[in-house]
Amino acid sequence: MTKVYNFSAGPAILPHDVLVEAQAELLDYAGTGISILESSHRSPEYIAIHDEAVANLSELMGITDDYAVLFVQGGASQQFAQVPMNLLPSGQSADYTNSGSWAKKAIAEAKRLGSVNVIADTNDTRPTCVPDPDSLEITPDAAYVHVTSNETISGAQWKRFPECDAPLVADMSSDILSRAIDVTPFGLIFAGAQKNLGPSGLTVVVVRKDLAEAAPENIPAIFRYQTQIDAGSMYNTPPCFGVYLFMLVTRWLKGLGGVAAVENMNDEKAGRLYAAIDGTDFYRGAAAVEHRSAMNVTFNLPDEALEKRFAAESADVGLKGLKGHRSVGGLRASIYNAFPAEGVDALVAFMADFEKQNG
Ligand code: PMP
Repeated sequence: MTKVYNFSAGPAILPHDVLVEAQAELLDYAGTGISILESSHRSPEYIAIHDEAVANLSELMGITDDYAVLFVQGGASQQFAQVPMNLLPSGQSADYTNSGSWAKKAIAEAKRLGSVNVIADTNDTRPTCVPDPDSLEITPDAAYVHVTSNETISGAQWKRFPECDAPLVADMSSDILSRAIDVTPFGLIFAGAQKNLGPSGLTVVVVRKDLAEAAPENIPAIFRYQTQIDAGSMYNTPPCFGVYLFMLVTRWLKGLGGVAAVENMNDEKAGRLYAAIDGTDFYRGAAAVEHRSAMNVTFNLPDEALEKRFAAESADVGLKGLKGHRSVGGLRASIYNAFPAEGVDALVAFMADFEKQNG
């Protein structure tokens, strides 16, 4: 069978060793005779998994006791609403940066709930890019400043974050744990798990405890971060299997040498792919060079028909999921932490062949 490389943007590739381990213990977790899928979230086995998951993330990201790590459901999309519900009191406004499709959705949701200033807008800029962190005019007394650290669809990534007095809030769904970041300027970080962390259904939230505590009392309990902080993410049944896989993924990442080690690997993989794109006029990077994502490499061919053929023929030889997002077209290679370097080499070789046949 042809070796398959999964370039899907999410749900995305998971570390092979993690899947093998999960498979091996699927029917009988740690000698209990039952699957972790069947175990109570109050069982000592699950609680050990949950605690290790929190500890691993805290270690990998350098998260201090000033923050709580929460495992919740509802995806990053729910966070678009939950963030302003908790962190945007009436009488104050929040600053949002519109860097692309996902930022735009976060803005639309926040506007339903409070006063929002869009302080930068690169959504329609081509090549795609994110705002310049140094030229933002941050509203005095803004409750927070929202950024989307990596725009999964356009393939544009913040390389540096704004420096400001207000806490930063970041949607890190598609690049969390892919590179070293200093957590301290952030009031809240959220990420749907299905790219770098585990399966869909799990959402990870890292929130500064003082901000969570100050949230209004009158929002529904399930949406109040403090509710989940008080309950150790067990106010309702957590997405246990997702947390279990997340624990294995973070354990795997620690084994690789942590975030600094994987960042080097990611830069190396992305560098090779961008070099192939830049090496010819046939391929054109969709994102501005200085904002190119190390996670989602977006590119175009001379016309749409060729892009369609590229997506179909690459899939036929086992390079799956390269078709760009339906809203923008083109091609997109998502090369998250778990994506192997040899898969990038296989794509680079395919690109050269395809150009020879069609260029
Ligand atoms: N933000 C970003 C950056 C994303 O890539 C996605 C999903 N692709 C979302 C938010 C939405 O996530 P979810 O489907 O988990 O709600």
